[in-house]
Amino acid sequence: MAKLRFVVISLFLVLLTFSTQAGNGLDMELEPLTPESFYLIDEPGQLTLDEVKRLPPSRWTPLGTAPISFGYDTRPYWFRIAIPAADSRRILQLEYPLLDQVDLYFVANDGEVVQHQVGDQQPFYQRPMSGDGFAVPIPSMDEQTLWMRIETSSSLRVPVLVWTSSQFFEAQMQRYAAIGLYFGVLLCMIVYNLFGYAVTREASFFSYSMYVISTGLLMAALSGFGFQFIWPEWLWLQERAIVLFGALAFVFASFFIIQLFHLNRHSPLLHRGLVILGTVGGFIALGSTLLPYATTIRWLLPFAVFACAYVIAIGLFMWWRGVQHAQIFTLAWFLFMLSVMFNSLAYLGILDGQFIQRYAIMIGSGIEVLLLSWVVTLMYSSERSEKLKLQDEALKNALIAQEAQRALNEELEERVKQRTIDLEKATSSLQVANAELQRKSNEDGLTKLYNRRFFDQRFAEEFARSKRQKIPLSLLLIDIDNFKQLNDTYGHQVGDEILIRLAERLQSVAARVTDMVCRYGGEEFAVILPDTDHEEACLVAERFWQAISSQPFVTEAGLRPVTASFGIASRRHDMEAESELLFAADQALYQAKHNGRNQIVMAANS
Ligand code: GH3
Ligand code: MG
Ligand code: MG
Repeated sequence: MAKLRFVVISLFLVLLTFSTQAGNGLDMELEPLTPESFYLIDEPGQLTLDEVKRLPPSRWTPLGTAPISFGYDTRPYWFRIAIPAADSRRILQLEYPLLDQVDLYFVANDGEVVQHQVGDQQPFYQRPMSGDGFAVPIPSMDEQTLWMRIETSSSLRVPVLVWTSSQFFEAQMQRYAAIGLYFGVLLCMIVYNLFGYAVTREASFFSYSMYVISTGLLMAALSGFGFQFIWPEWLWLQERAIVLFGALAFVFASFFIIQLFHLNRHSPLLHRGLVILGTVGGFIALGSTLLPYATTIRWLLPFAVFACAYVIAIGLFMWWRGVQHAQIFTLAWFLFMLSVMFNSLAYLGILDGQFIQRYAIMIGSGIEVLLLSWVVTLMYSSERSEKLKLQDEALKNALIAQEAQRALNEELEERVKQRTIDLEKATSSLQVANAELQRKSNEDGLTKLYNRRFFDQRFAEEFARSKRQKIPLSLLLIDIDNFKQLNDTYGHQVGDEILIRLAERLQSVAARVTDMVCRYGGEEFAVILPDTDHEEACLVAERFWQAISSQPFVTEAGLRPVTASFGIASRRHDMEAESELLFAADQALYQAKHNGRNQIVMAANS
């Protein structure tokens, strides 16, 4: 708030200096009009100077001393003003630049007439003198009468001033200085904010610049400055400039306010209202190019009053909502509105002063433009720092999220590792179980020797290998003698016991690790003897026979002697399949049984 107070006070100081400078001009005006001033309304609008001169005095109405103002009236008015004698050359000025057609007739006492035609319906260069409003030299220093016919579609105001030449030019200089200052400020703001837009791409900089351009052109039109310097020959524009630029200024103001406050976020209702007002402004601007000025100015004035009040209401609402810088915005528009009010009051003659009439709106709109530019910059910078803060937070959050992700990944990796270890353990125990299962599937449950399944598979493999590698292979079949009888006599239990003990003896006798002792069937055993030839097989069979018959078996039915018969066969070269070798061994075993049991029979080996 301290900053705000500083800026507002310094603005006022600048303008105070500016206004006292400009105000000096006021003291130099000559005496106001003499009481001998009259007017009449030319109802049909056809009267010439001679006809007017001949009219009876009753047709004329005294003007009085109040400023001459008849509002919007398109009928021609005639004025008769007595100009007293003076001792230097003088200049007559109509200080209202918007009058359409003005015919001036200076009539000397001897009847000589000097005529001038002015008005903003002729190009600027056709004027006898340039200056604020319309200025013409007064032809002589003698006493004379001014006859003046005015017809205009603008407001019919006729501020008539009489100056000495030197005073007039001095006042004009000061006026140019003041106007120069005003438009200089506007130009700075436009350039500065367009640069701002070029650099930041922030839309409110652009719409603000557009608003200031429109306001500047409006002020140029109102002050006659535009016609004098910007569009001196463009009569079409001169006629429409005020309504066109006034309406456009409001169109851009709507854009600007919407973008500045992001109005839609705060109040969709106020936003919609402003959009409607902006659209109406656009239609009035369009209308100004198609319809006569007298019509469209009647739309613009009430519209402008309402729109200004609406904008101030938006400012107050934003202020109440605590939106930053809304108070400066409201103040800006309020000062502008105030200056328009002062100006209107001065025109209506309620407030006295040429100064207010000339400069109030300029001062008001100058302050408004400066304050608004300040608001745009403040809003932009506070929005930017807000954005930066958000970005900062987002970055922090991203870092936190990244850290969390990393921790999660680590945990996941750890879990995967643990799982892998568990899996490996499970796999190895499964392998153990599998091997156990494999072993079990190859084992005979009772005797723990290899079973028949194993024998069949392994015997085929060994037979193939022996054939391939051309190494010997022998097979030994052992069948317990009269085992059925033993079972029948002592019971199966005893039979089983003998089978177990006998298997143990056979296993202990098997000398080579490669020798495989299998239980072939009930009380029959088969021993695969790889790389063992006929003679060696006989020796092995001898050892087995010894192991069985050397001593009786210990059973629960006491010591029981057991004998067994042996059939031996070795692979011959002519044998194609392992079944042939098995058959040969079986034949030998059969032979042993047949020969009386408890003996070893070898299959013929040639
Ligand atoms: P041989 O001297 O002609 O071989 O006469 P054997 O009685 O031994 O022959 P046989 O084939 O007639 O009888 C075999 C018997 O073996 C029949 C069955 O009682 C017995 N046996 C077979 N398997 C088992 C077993 O697992 N346990 C027991 N206790 N006895 C069995
Ligand atoms: Mg048998
Ligand atoms: Mg038997």
